Amino acid sequence: MLGGTTEAYALAASLAGDASIRTITSLAGRTTSPRLPQGEVRIGGFGGAEGLAAYLLTQKIDATIDATHPFSARMGWNAAAAAKTAQVKLLRLARPAWQAGPGDHWIDVGDWDEAVSVVARESRRVLLAIGRQELEPFAAITDVFFLIRSVEAPEPMPGFANAELLLSRGPFDATSERALIEAQNIDTIVCKNSGGSVVDGKLKAARGLGLRMVMKRRPARPEVASVATVDDAVAWVRALKR
Ligand code: NAP
Repeated sequence: MLGGTTEAYALAASLAGDASIRTITSLAGRTTSPRLPQGEVRIGGFGGAEGLAAYLLTQKIDATIDATHPFSARMGWNAAAAAKTAQVKLLRLARPAWQAGPGDHWIDVGDWDEAVSVVARESRRVLLAIGRQELEPFAAITDVFFLIRSVEAPEPMPGFANAELLLSRGPFDATSERALIEAQNIDTIVCKNSGGSVVDGKLKAARGLGLRMVMKRRPARPEVASVATVDDAVAWVRALKR
């Protein structure tokens, strides 16, 4: 299992009780002391698709589940190529993307440059809810206020002319999101279409307020067999053994 997501932890936990299945979760190793999933764990990159293919073969892996985050741009392609080379079955486990509905005012963007253009043209006060790694392009806009929300402080903090840092860990419900938006007079939220079955608090709050959402589309993924839930992934694994 290529992990690092809530779904991958849940999948590892679901399969842990079955002594007939040996599971190995792979983590990229981005954080110094990651939460460890149940079952076996390995940490660190494989060295591209070739490295992953070699790993699948030497470890005699029967099946791979790509449960990496929807915004992990590279790993899905590596998994597809490696699974083909090593002749290993592959499943993609991914939460469904959020879809705009009635009352939503979404502007979908393919990259942050597009988002910067929209914000520079249309916004005054922005909640930047994109994590702490990709803030830099927005610092070029000097006449817009940014409320930057992240779990940990950006290091280094890009040189924003007018910004405030809000260190805070979700999930956030719609009531508290609405209160924040109103207190800070926010007119735009910039975020990623991370998706999930539970409608996110900021999405609900934005809908109620008719707020502009600048939403980054997910990166392209290869066409592989896919499921949206952990239960379906477990069923796929069990079906392999029949
Ligand atoms: P990425 O762009 O798809 O991957 C970049 C490189 O990191 C890959 O080529 C691979 O290196 C290594 N890698 C990624 N996932 C790995 C895994 N599960 N096990 C071993 N190596 C892995 O991915 P990313 O966006 O940097 O994300 C890294 C990890 O963080 C993923 O596991 C993902 O699930 C998790 N994550 C990402 C986000 C996000 O917004 N991007 C959010 C939450 C969690 P090699 O080519 O050397 O094998």
